[in-house]
Order: sequence, then structure tokens, then C-alpha cells
Amino acid sequence: MREFGNAKVKKGKMNKLILDTIEKKSDLLIDLSKKIHSSPELGFDEKKACRWQIDLLKKLGFKVTSPFAGMKTAFAAQKGGGEPRIAFLSEYDALPELGHACGHNLIAPCSIGAAEAFALSLKKENLSGTTLVYGTPAEEGKGGKLNMVSKGIFREAGLVLMAHPSPVTSGWGGFLAIRRFKVEFFGRASHAAASPEKGLNALDANLLLFQGINAFRQHIMDKSRIHGIIENGGSVPNIIPEYSSSSFYLRSPTEKYLKQIVKKFGQIVKGAAMMTGTKFKICEGVESYKAGLVVEALNREFLKIAKELKMKRIEPGRDGMGSSDFGDVSRRAPGLHAYFSISDKDCPLHSKNFEKNANSRRAFDSMLKASAVLANIALNFCSNTKFRTEVISEFKKNIRNCS
Ligand SMILES: [Zn+2]
Ligand SMILES: [Zn+2]
Repeated sequence: MREFGNAKVKKGKMNKLILDTIEKKSDLLIDLSKKIHSSPELGFDEKKACRWQIDLLKKLGFKVTSPFAGMKTAFAAQKGGGEPRIAFLSEYDALPELGHACGHNLIAPCSIGAAEAFALSLKKENLSGTTLVYGTPAEEGKGGKLNMVSKGIFREAGLVLMAHPSPVTSGWGGFLAIRRFKVEFFGRASHAAASPEKGLNALDANLLLFQGINAFRQHIMDKSRIHGIIENGGSVPNIIPEYSSSSFYLRSPTEKYLKQIVKKFGQIVKGAAMMTGTKFKICEGVESYKAGLVVEALNREFLKIAKELKMKRIEPGRDGMGSSDFGDVSRRAPGLHAYFSISDKDCPLHSKNFEKNANSRRAFDSMLKASAVLANIALNFCSNTKFRTEVISEFKKNIRNCS
């Protein structure tokens, strides 16, 4: 962790014990990251990643509960007591075929390092506060955090922090609300050459749905997204497809506008079925995520400390927004989902290159610094009444605005 040594840390701003703790634990944290990276596990099947984290947290003196919130690969770890309660969120699921192309192998050690450094600094400063680490499985599409949100886990937290790898270091720009749908068309099979007049083409209905969506897309508000794939388009060309299905994600910056998009989506499906004489069925997936509520006071604090630590490729905001179950978490407590740069060149998340970069010295250095930044934000939240009040009042204002 020589990079820490090179960063000119202004006395009184960066907590020395936090830096020392992260530096001392850096080998353990990097080792955890490498192990998770080399053994990618899909959502709700992250047995090894969960076990390795629990072992490390216990070694660091945390009290750990697992399974947690009804999920085998979730955990809750705690140190200290009293208010406020600061939660650091860990993610550790991988992507099918691509492995750790979202770099979640770096999120787990980042949050554990931050929690340990924060807990020790709280104790040293003689401040009240509980350090929590929540192991949240299956972020990639299956929404492990939703189970925790529904059980009221985050209501108790005064602050929820995490940092995600990215090409650049930046604050959080929010998340889009997302709803997921499966659409099925039911037609009638027939010989495609000998008796096409007797068939009802379910694939045509599906293709018309995509055309309808493409036309609709021109008229939707900025930042909203509609994207889908055909899952089933028939079996062989000489049979009129009697069944065809597709899968869509619909996203928007607000749930309210997303509702309008969903309504129009349903009308387009109906129109496609009417044009082809087919029947249709729309099923909504349970994994709908809410839009994220950004607390700018947390973003400012993150960027300020990131600059002090000379983190690489700092940018005020991050282009492009996805969706995450962290959006729902950010409705329950003030939250920060910051980003730390793991490459000198741009490389998109969910790509092979990102997977490679997520296991590099460059990434580990950034992860350790992000860990120190999160710990410092948590400490400032506990020790600086002005900052804490600012964060809480902004969060409350956000909640009022979206209800
Ligand atoms: Zn991802
Ligand atoms: Zn991710």
C-alpha cells in the first residue's frame, strides 16, 4: 500500500488510524478479493464468497449472523454498540459466463476494510456508534437487498455506504427504477408453405412488439430505457411459430413515469397480438428496483476525501445509469453508492476487459483507498454534527419529494 504513503494527507482531515488500519489489513483484503475473483459464483449461490467474508469478519472480532434475512448466502456482522448505526454493504455475486465483470470481488473487501477501520477509529475517539456489514447476495438481477428491505433491516441504519468499481472515481448519480417483464404470444402452428393461411404467427406478433417499442422509444422522456430480447422465436422455418416469447427491462428515473411507460408497453403488446390474431400473456418479474435517492452531501464528502487521498481519475459525476437493489435501500436510510476507478483507460462494466481489470494491482490500490474514504465519511457522520444534520435533512427532503 505504498500509494497511501505517497498521498499527502492533511492532518486532522484524514483519520490516521483509518489509514493505518487499511494499510495493515491490506494483504488480507487483497487476498479476499483475489479468492472471490478466481471462484465466481452466481447470485444466491455465493457459498464460498460468503464463507470467506464471514471467516475474515470473525477474525477481525465482528459478531456474525448467517444465514440472514432468509437468504443462505447473506450475512450481518456487527461491532460496537449505540447510535448511530452505520452499515457498509458488501456484494459478491458474479455474472454468467463473464465471471466478475462487475468487479464485485472488490466490493466485499472494500466494505469489510472500511468497517474495521471505522470501528477502531470510533473506539479510539470514544464515540458512540455501531458498525455493521451486511452481506447482500445476488445484486445482478435477483435483488438480494430487497429481502432485507422488506424485513425492515435498513430502517435502523443511520447511514448506508458502499463503493463500486468503475473506470472513473466519482460520486453517485443515482439509479433508474426498473421493472422486468416476460411477454408470451400464443398462435397456431401450420405448414409454412403448404397451408400458411391456417396458421397464426406468434413470432410475427413478437416482431411487431419490437417495432412498436422502437417507435415508442422516440417519444419517451430522457434517461428512460426500454430494452428486450427474443427468447423463443419458433423451432424450424417450415412451421408457423405457434409460440414466441420475449423478455424486457423498462427503466426510468422515477417510478411515476415508469408506470406510464409500463401502461403504454401493455398497449403495444395488445396491439401486436391484435394485428396477428394471437393471444398474449404478460408476466412481471418480482425483481423491480426503485430509483436511487442521491444525497449530495455524501457525494461532496466522498469527492473531497478522494481528492485528499489522490484517488485516480476523479470526475464529479458518472455518465450512464443502471439499476440496482441499492435504489430500494436508499429509500430507507441516507445512502452512498460511490465509484472507484480500476483502470487508466475506459472500459465498460460487464465486459471481459473489466473482469481482467478487477483483479489488478491498480484495482486493489483504488479499492483500499475507497475503503479508507468510506470509513472517514462514517467517522465524520458520527463526530461532526453539522455534516450529520446536513445528510439527514437532505435525505428527508428527498423522501418527501418522491412520495
Ligand atoms: Zn453489474
Ligand atoms: Zn455491480
